[in-house]
Amino acid sequence: MDFKLDPADEAFRQEVRAFLKENLPPDLARRGACGFHPIRADQRRWQRTLFERGWGAPNWPVEYGGTGWSHLRQFIFDEECALAGAPATDNGGLRMFGPVIYTYAGAELKARLLPGILKGELYWGQGFSEPGAGSDLAALATRAVRDGDEYVVNGHKIWTTGAHTCDIIGLLVKTNPEAKQRGISFLCVDPATPGITVRPIIDIGEAHSLNEVFFDNVRVPVSNLLGEENKGWTYAKAVLENERATSAEVPLNKRKLAQLRHIAMHERSDGCRVIDLPGFAPRLAQLEVDLRALEWLTLRALTEKSEGAVLPYGSLLKVRGSELVQRIGELTVEALEQYGSYLYAEPGEDPDAKPDWPPGPDYAPGVVADFMYRRAATIYGGANEVQRTIIARSFLGL
Ligand SMILES: Cc1cc2nc3c(=O)[nH]c(=O)nc-3n(C[C@H](O)[C@H](O)[C@H](O)COP(=O)(O)OP(=O)(O)OC[C@H]3O[C@@H](n4cnc5c(N)ncnc54)[C@H](O)[C@@H]3O)c2cc1C
Repeated sequence: MDFKLDPADEAFRQEVRAFLKENLPPDLARRGACGFHPIRADQRRWQRTLFERGWGAPNWPVEYGGTGWSHLRQFIFDEECALAGAPATDNGGLRMFGPVIYTYAGAELKARLLPGILKGELYWGQGFSEPGAGSDLAALATRAVRDGDEYVVNGHKIWTTGAHTCDIIGLLVKTNPEAKQRGISFLCVDPATPGITVRPIIDIGEAHSLNEVFFDNVRVPVSNLLGEENKGWTYAKAVLENERATSAEVPLNKRKLAQLRHIAMHERSDGCRVIDLPGFAPRLAQLEVDLRALEWLTLRALTEKSEGAVLPYGSLLKVRGSELVQRIGELTVEALEQYGSYLYAEPGEDPDAKPDWPPGPDYAPGVVADFMYRRAATIYGGANEVQRTIIARSFLGL
């Protein structure tokens, strides 16, 4: 397989690079390049800039306001943005939910939801998992009962990333409790609706991105139903496949590896640079080889997807990508020497916050917090054990 860029794609890369140099504010790049969760205000600001340039949705078709770029150009764009330290855009709206909305929603819902995603005004939360329904998602028990033009929702979701900062939640509910998959519907819910309570879950890195969400007689207009009642499982599977297809995060991992290389060249241990410690450079090289292999697998998956892929690429990428990001994180913490034993607390949602951190190199804050958070990479988006079963079934034809 030859992935050498042709001159037109290379020119595109240069165009993106020049745009980033001109338009990415240094404060956004500084915050975007460290490992903390992105600040919503930064994401909104950056998405607006991209929207105004016509690059708001690299992966959407032109008819919905996307760029219509090839998969390769999307990949180049993501890579350049990540390497420049641009804040992560809204993966939920742009990559997971948006494509499902324009594929399955009616005209009215499309017109109501898609422009907000493009402009960075409508951030999505994923209200799928429940205390009794994670890997076995179809066992979900949150109930929606139709009452005139509304559904009345009661139940409890958990692990809802960004429920405290999002503008809309893609919510899976049971509309027919007698059925399993065929009794599930998909509602688009405003988290400010009366009856919704969001309770934070503080993670191992002492950060707040996760939440429990409680629904107590929450009234949701029937016009917020995506597609058809009791067909939600089809839409949910599409969302999850989109989530896994992007989960290898090659561009992000490239930035992390570049950071690791930088730290290893600058941090010193026993009088020498970390990179010169016995055995360190080969471990770094192995990560670079594995990332390159993952990059090629991603490009192959994207190519075959547009040709109707039969292999479970989403699951393959999810397993390889999540394990790699954990290995990069482990070596980066090791390279940080004494700074790797300190958890620099997350600055939170305020872009102007001045955290009370002890002195240390600029590259230290965020590394340990990200390492901690990524312990969950093999769980979120579907536990790796379950993905391995999907892969085995596909290859063994079970
Ligand atoms: C950081 C983080 C962010 C998340 N964000 C969201 C979000 O925004 N929205 C949302 O809806 N959900 C979110 N989740 C939830 C996530 O999708 C679930 O945690 C995941 O699907 C696993 O479900 P569970 O936690 O209930 O574990 P369980 O399903 O109880 O599994 C527990 C263990 O048993 C193993 N196991 C279970 N079933 C099988 C099987 N069939 N074969 C082999 N092993 C099995 C699993 O591998 C796992 O190790 C998030 C989770 C995390 C950790």
